[in-house]
Amino acid sequence: MGESNYYSIRMHASRINMHVSGAERIVCAQKIESTVSELIGRAMRKDCTPDRVTVTIDDLGNGPLRTLKALDIITVNAPDSSEARTMASDILQNAGVAENAALQALNFLSKGASPSGENMRGAMIIDCRTGERLETDRARGVRASRFDWSDEARERIKKELADNGLSHFRTCEALALATKIAHGPGVIAEICWSDDPDYTAGYVASLKTGYIRFPFMKQIGNKTGGRAIFVDRNGFDARASIDFLQDEPVLIDGTGKYNECGDAIELRRCLKRHSGLDPESSDCLLESLKKT
Ligand code: AMP
Repeated sequence: MGESNYYSIRMHASRINMHVSGAERIVCAQKIESTVSELIGRAMRKDCTPDRVTVTIDDLGNGPLRTLKALDIITVNAPDSSEARTMASDILQNAGVAENAALQALNFLSKGASPSGENMRGAMIIDCRTGERLETDRARGVRASRFDWSDEARERIKKELADNGLSHFRTCEALALATKIAHGPGVIAEICWSDDPDYTAGYVASLKTGYIRFPFMKQIGNKTGGRAIFVDRNGFDARASIDFLQDEPVLIDGTGKYNECGDAIELRRCLKRHSGLDPESSDCLLESLKKT
């Protein structure tokens, strides 16, 4: 293992062959040991003690890593999951997803998107026009991997999020994952809420809108969650897109802005101030939000 190389470290914990937890990092050689021990500590701290923990370390070589700036964040304080999902659907439509495709995704996510009705291990890939599911394995889906914050950006985003009352490790990780997914070739938007029954937040993310976070995308105690990635099949190269999501290492070395708003009308104002947005797209978004 070369000294100046980067390494991908992935942890997966399971119990009776069921997923318990997972996490991943990209680090330099000097940080491999401490990172492995941190990830194992995290696997063992879960309420459900795993009977198997796998840690995989891959040498990413010493070439330059692709770097990305994190999506801007807007927290929308929709009061309950029903309102949050309605607004999420409108935001998806603004990003280029057909209404029917957005509703189909919400439906799958609500009832458990794997054929058994359980949660998938990864994400659904959905045609943004027809709502057709494109992933070949409907239980596993596609798992985005090999992404992390640079040390400096991690510290900055943790502070920014904590200053806004968001200190849960999941927020920081979901933002990194959403940033990588949004940059996937052919990706139009993504929607997600967690399968953790204690974590009710979810989001819609796209390059057009940034990362729009809803604190209550489901009710507390609900164990059903998942991810849907919407793609535009015009000129779409599925292999290139999936290879990027699964295999291309990406380091997030820049942070975006943070905004907060209380309802659709305020979201409208908030998006107008939101510099990462194409003004036309935010106008459309605002128009569609007016309907809610
Ligand atoms: P989480 O936010 O970790 O609770 O994950 C919520 C859901 O997103 C899971 O049930 C999976 O369906 C999906 N998921 C989790 N991690 C990934 C990933 N790395 N790539 C794609 N989908 C994922």
